Order: sequence, then structure tokens, then C-alpha cells
Amino acid sequence: MIPAVMPTYARFDTTFDHGEGVYLYDVNGRRYLDFGAGIAVASLGHCHPHLVEALKDQAEKFWHCSNLYTIEGQEKLAERLIANSFADAAFFNNSGGEAVEAAIKMARRYQSMSGHPERFRMISIEGAFHGRSLACIAAGGQEKHLAGFGPKVDGFDQVAFGNLNEMRAAITPETAGILVEPVQGEGGIRPMPDGYLQGLRAIADEFGLALVYDEVQSGIGRTGKLFAYEMSGAAPDVMALAKGLGGGFPLGAVLASEKIARHMTPGTHGTTFGGNPLAMAVGNAVLDIILEDGFLGRVEAMAGILWTKLEDIQSAYPRLFSAVRGTGLMVGLKCVGDNGENTAFVGKLLENGLLTVPAGDNVVRMVPPLIIDESHIDEAAGIVVKTCQEME
Ligand SMILES: *Cc1c(COP(=O)(O)O)cnc(C)c1O
Repeated sequence: MIPAVMPTYARFDTTFDHGEGVYLYDVNGRRYLDFGAGIAVASLGHCHPHLVEALKDQAEKFWHCSNLYTIEGQEKLAERLIANSFADAAFFNNSGGEAVEAAIKMARRYQSMSGHPERFRMISIEGAFHGRSLACIAAGGQEKHLAGFGPKVDGFDQVAFGNLNEMRAAITPETAGILVEPVQGEGGIRPMPDGYLQGLRAIADEFGLALVYDEVQSGIGRTGKLFAYEMSGAAPDVMALAKGLGGGFPLGAVLASEKIARHMTPGTHGTTFGGNPLAMAVGNAVLDIILEDGFLGRVEAMAGILWTKLEDIQSAYPRLFSAVRGTGLMVGLKCVGDNGENTAFVGKLLENGLLTVPAGDNVVRMVPPLIIDESHIDEAAGIVVKTCQEME
């Protein structure tokens, strides 16, 4: 018989009861070190007191009022995101997929309103993941996500990872924009090569395309910068955010420069729940912490320590792992083989009390809360080594 909850996930047989900081506790009281953070979502760990307080305070004021009214928390969060990015305006919604979907709409609308209604196609990158809506699976281009869901939504082309020549060659008179994750997440924690985003920026400018970054996973401090694109110096025109932005509360956002955002006039786009006061209270509380002086520097320092440990482990176990890759606290251990070794390893780590997440390309993904300290890294490395010994 079908389970009451649709079996869309191959779930691990673990049920959590509560969390504190970098730890989760299951219903039997067992403690786990959480280096998965609910797939890069619990950016400040579990039940961060500042976030709990913000949510409780708002819960006692009011929860919802519709975007027909001014929501103070939105004004504040938008201004802070703008002040710390390329953008001039923000739109809030509830998830990464929705943010990407809205970003695609903005790119198309920009072209349409700029005298190019024929430009509607987006070019994305092989290995991409952009969410699960019909347009997002078309943008992601992965057969395993498209199979059985009817004709692929029109308007999406895909080119090889890191190849600017192919990108340039793929542009047609119908191209509206380029959609790229500065660091591919689900695809296997693959940062775009050095110079690639700068190259895309130049191509977008030359052909009048909208450059759209999907920083749903890499954004909000994950890489040691507030946004991963900062490392390249190549700003986008539109950017999708979600995961870490709400610290565990469902929250997505699209940031855009004025040239794009000015076409999103009343009635062009909307959302019932997006940017509701509860989400805004938590989003602002997340930024209170991440924008504190020294916070991102600390993320970078912790990332350095974690990378050193993982690189040591990789050289000690070359038969298990062929590389450590990623940026900052978005790290992938590439497994040797092509038979789901990553999922097996993630399962063993779970048995040993460390939560991680499988990613594409046979990668074990570590995206711990940004608040980890050295003792958590030591503990995680110890569990990884123990698990490696068991696997060998
Ligand atoms: C997780 C993710 C999404 C989809 O987010 P949802 O909240 O699951 O819709 C989109 N893009 C990237 C890069 C992601 O990591």
C-alpha cells in the first residue's frame, strides 16, 4: 500500500525530534552533528535564540496580511539585501524554485518590454539544478527530473559546464538570458571555473541578455562571501535566493537591477504567501547575524580549517575519494566509482552520527551551519575518518 506521505524521497530511517545549534536529536534521544543543515538551509543552526525570539515576537503580533498592503519587514529586508548586493529591488516568495521561476519571468519580461518580445529562451549549464516546477526542470535539463512529466517546457537550451565558446555559439535571436549557479549545488558542488562568470557578463552585455544567477544554495554567506558571485566581481542582472535566507523558515527572494525590476509593474507577478510577516521577521533576524562585523570572516576561517582536514582525509583514502571541491562551507567529497558510493557513505556517516547530503556526480556534500567552530570540525573529521576505516 502507498505510504500516506507520497514516496518521492528515498528517506533515511531517522526521525528528528529537536535541535540545538549544530546538533539534531532523534526521537530516541540520539545526537547527530548536522553538516547537512537541511540542505544548506539552517544557516545559523537549529533554534538560534535570535531567530526563535524574532519568530515568537512576530507570531504574537500578526502572521499574514497579503501583499495588497505594505509589509514593514519586506521594506527592511529588501533595503538590506540591496545595500549589500548589485540589486536595486527585491521580490519575496517562499522557495528556491519559485525564485528561479520569477527570475526567468523577469528576464523574459525585460526583453519583451525592451522591444524584443521574440527573446524568450534561457541558456543554462549542464549539471544545473534550478528547482522542480515545470519551467525549472526544463531549465535544469536533467532527464531524471523531466521523465514522465510531458513535453519539456519550451524556451530552455543547455551548454557544457564552464565553456564560454559553447555559450556564445548557443545564442540565437530568441535568447533572453543566461541562467547559472555560480557554484553548482545539487549537480555535485562544482564552482564555475575562474573567469567564467566574468566571461558570461561580457557575453550578456555584448548580446543584450539578462544574466541570471541562481544563488539559492550558494548565497547568504555559504561561501564566506554574502553572495558567491562577489568572488568573481561579475554581478548579475537578476539573482534568485532562498535556502539559507530563512534559516529554516521557507523564504525565497529575487533581486534585480533597476533596468529589469522596473518592468515588474502592478499585476505582472504576485504571491499569496511570499514575504509574509513571519518569514520577514526571520529573514531579517538571519541578516542581523550574518551581516555582523566579522561573521563572514569567521565562515572563511572555519572553511579553511574544514578544507585542510578533508584534503588530508582525501589523501589518506584515495581509494574512497578523488577530490575535495566547492567553495567556503559548500564542500563536496567526490567519491571514487560510479555506483552511488556517495549515498552509501552518507548513510554510514548518519549511522556514525554525522549528517551530510548526497549530491550529483557521486559527491558527499557538506553544507554545515555557518556558526560551526573548530570543535565541530574536529568532531566531523573524526567521524569521517572512522567511517572511511569501516568502508575500507
Ligand atoms: C534547492 C535549490 C533550488 C530549489 O529550491 P526549492 O526551495 O526546493 O524550490 C533551486 N536552485 C538551487 C541552486 C538550489 O540549490
